[in-house]
Amino acid sequence: MPSTTGPIPCSDSKSDDTSVALLHKTSADQCQLHFHEKVTANNSPHGGVHPIVSLESHHENLALLIAKALRQFPLHDSHHSVKQKISPVLKPDFISVTRGPGMRSSLTTGLDTAKGLAVACQIPLVGINHMQAHALTPRLVSMLDKEAPAPKPDFPFLSLLVSGGHTLLVHSKAITNHKILAETTDIAIGDAIDKIARHVLPPTLLKSKNEIMYGRLLENFVFPNGASSSIDYVAPTTRAEEIVRRQTQWGWALCPPLAETRSGEKSKAMEFTFSGLESAVRRICDAKGSEMSIEERIDLGKESMRIAFEHLASRVGWALHDLKSTNQPIDTLVVSGGVASNTFLKIVLRSFLAARGFHNVNLVFPPAALCTDNAAMIAWAGMEMFERGWESELSCRALRKWSIDASAEDGGILGADCWKRRYYSGRNETK
Ligand code: AMP
Ligand code: ZN
Repeated sequence: MPSTTGPIPCSDSKSDDTSVALLHKTSADQCQLHFHEKVTANNSPHGGVHPIVSLESHHENLALLIAKALRQFPLHDSHHSVKQKISPVLKPDFISVTRGPGMRSSLTTGLDTAKGLAVACQIPLVGINHMQAHALTPRLVSMLDKEAPAPKPDFPFLSLLVSGGHTLLVHSKAITNHKILAETTDIAIGDAIDKIARHVLPPTLLKSKNEIMYGRLLENFVFPNGASSSIDYVAPTTRAEEIVRRQTQWGWALCPPLAETRSGEKSKAMEFTFSGLESAVRRICDAKGSEMSIEERIDLGKESMRIAFEHLASRVGWALHDLKSTNQPIDTLVVSGGVASNTFLKIVLRSFLAARGFHNVNLVFPPAALCTDNAAMIAWAGMEMFERGWESELSCRALRKWSIDASAEDGGILGADCWKRRYYSGRNETK
């Protein structure tokens, strides 16, 4: 197979982004992205994602984006000289599409469109697990790197996915072998930060901005002009120091999540929770009302972020420790999702892990365009699966729930129905 291409209609699990990509594998360790566009539904009047508005946006935009992507054909491999006479690629080798997990209506829009394309072009279809695609994204990023292309990192590695819909710590051992080490038991960190931002930001500022990325607004408010990069943050060196309630000059103190269980016992649960922090911030803002000064709002926003980010860092530290002590050391942590673009989070994670003895762990933050929901990551996950012989039956349906963890009840990625294998790749996929 000289090259592998895939135009990918992707309706994502959060369901407000419609995205199409055209990815071309030009050699064993290099890819080219010939087309990558995303349209996000205008949900700002609703203060969050509205399912019907999102579905209508898929209906309006998906076919138009695909038409635009297909205008790129025939593809020419810009890495080879004309003299090498590489024949142009006339149509995609296969098509990959998000199959789940997510909202069925949005997923079905993408899936049915992809099936239509697969049938019309007589090419295979690969139905992708959205979370698997997030986990494999850093390997795409390195394949697109013009200086040193390669499918990196090698397995195993850890991924911390922090977005509007997910908060997950995943141990990835192979393309289809992922273990969820911790996930949120209530709301996702991005959702919590968005809500906290709406409590903390001055109402006039909120009204003047026409966007729903409240997390970004909060970061810019607390650290204007990118000031977070010069912040002098000192990480707690012990768990006892980490769970101290820090009293502030304003009369309030925020409690780190799971610092203590109801029985008074310190909790070391491998899970995340953010709703308690959000409620505490709401109560403080409600009590102070419009009297709250800008300085106090800035302190509250900063303290909320510190506590949320240290909560993430503590679980990452425990996971690294546990894996090391069971002879499965990890040298790479990939941090992706919309919240990963927060500079303060990067500082907290680096300092916190260094303070716990993990200076050697390489922290990778893929560029925002590739680590928030997008079609290029679906194209890449499709490429990894297709090259190992996996395709989907045309009868496959959208899956509202679909774990990536093989030990989950549904059997994880390969536990879904409608997989078929062209050939056995010779690799053990689960080791
Ligand atoms: P995603 O779900 O991956 O598309 O990411 C969207 C989420 O990331 C939303 O909850 C945003 O508010 C959040 N987000 C984006 N930028 C930032 C930032 N700089 N700081 C904190 N949260 C952010
Ligand atoms: Zn996602």
